[in-house]
Amino acid sequence: MFLSVFDVFKIGVGPSSSHTMGPMVAANRFLDDILNGDWPRPVGYSVSHLQVSLHGSLAFTGIGHGTGRAVVLGLVGLLPDTVDPDTMDATVLQVETTKTVSPAGHPDYQFDPETDLVFDRNQPLPGHANGMAFNAFDRDDRLLLRRIYYSIGGGFVVSDLELEALQKAQEPAVEAGVPFPFHNAAEMLEMAGRSGLSVAAMKRANEEKHFPGAELDRRLDEIWTAMSGCIDRGLSGDGVMPGGLNVRRRARSIHDRLQDEWKQNKSNPLLANDWLSVYAMAVNEENAGGGRIVTAPTNGAAGVIPATIRYYAQFHDGADTDGIRDFLLTAAAIGGIIKHNASISGAEVGCQGEVGSASAMAAAGLAAVLGGTPEQVENAAEIALEHHLGMTCDPVGGLVQVPCIERNALGAVKAVTAASLALKGDGKHFVPLDACIETMRQTGLDMNERYKETSEGGLAVNVVEC
Ligand code: SF4
Repeated sequence: MFLSVFDVFKIGVGPSSSHTMGPMVAANRFLDDILNGDWPRPVGYSVSHLQVSLHGSLAFTGIGHGTGRAVVLGLVGLLPDTVDPDTMDATVLQVETTKTVSPAGHPDYQFDPETDLVFDRNQPLPGHANGMAFNAFDRDDRLLLRRIYYSIGGGFVVSDLELEALQKAQEPAVEAGVPFPFHNAAEMLEMAGRSGLSVAAMKRANEEKHFPGAELDRRLDEIWTAMSGCIDRGLSGDGVMPGGLNVRRRARSIHDRLQDEWKQNKSNPLLANDWLSVYAMAVNEENAGGGRIVTAPTNGAAGVIPATIRYYAQFHDGADTDGIRDFLLTAAAIGGIIKHNASISGAEVGCQGEVGSASAMAAAGLAAVLGGTPEQVENAAEIALEHHLGMTCDPVGGLVQVPCIERNALGAVKAVTAASLALKGDGKHFVPLDACIETMRQTGLDMNERYKETSEGGLAVNVVEC
């Protein structure tokens, strides 16, 4: 499957791509299946009642991640990229009150979130840690249609049959006609060497098969505008984040202090770290509040790349729009390789797959726009990913707040350090990126389930919630 830059960077809502955006998308797919899917329809049938069960990690951390709300909004027909974050609460309340969903083009369906939405912690579904079963019944409570979907990270959703086909495929299929069909970093470097093109230029050539002319740049600019807007909203937000942990937003006050220092020309040896951190935290505080967000490559890790791009724009002479586009294209190329060969899902491989991948993507993007060769870009991604290997996912209270928000700040700092180290070398290095990605995959397989977005281990059980 060709993984576009717009599959990696998707505009949506917080707090989680796999636990919020994915379930919302799955609910919409089910609505579409009810109307247009291939299933045996009894004569005179009429769907009158819906029921949904959430399994595995979605059942364990779904409440903190807003999964139930996302399913309700999805069954109303709303999608992550177009839903208005300011009206979501009212829509959910309406469904809770009327116990009915009324998606456009459908009749009303009975759906009482209290009883028809089940968080099933006992029975994981076999295909993936994030399983969902959607059922449609007639008015006599006879099951008419059942569909299984999996939210496989970064907002991607597949049905059980699609997942089986993906797992059976020996090698990820690459869409015919793409001029640079690299599956891994070694192929990427080989094609770059042969063509004399940068990673961004190869990715651009692939994307132009789908988004010709000015369309590609227009959409890349839209992604950066959404990321940048998210930073700005995060820097102006204040108060306690939702969910019950009573964690205060900090980005705004840190930003105020940094601005004061900046205006007074005070020397700050930690300048870059501080600005990177505050931008990343702003995004992830906004994500925790359920605001508009761009997956990068997931919601939980959404702060690393915007922070690194804003840092590039603020501190590097010569930074410009073309550079930001190249940054996004390079980062997406690395994200695609990681997703094809391992995972970007915390429920599959822990946080190494989320913040680790984001840091690798940001490091590659920064190295590219600071003039790095393809070898230095690959080296930067490898350094950043290597030093996230083994990192678990253990969100306190099942909320994407602790350790997630600060973790993004540190992911951005590591990305910049990794890019800087790589640019000081000649691209030759000891651990290939492909070996590092395979190590992450194997480490994820070996990782105890408690550390894969279940909130049953690590900080989640050692920090007292107040
Ligand atoms: S710990 Fe990492 S992987 Fe887990 S929810 Fe937080 S950001 Fe996502």
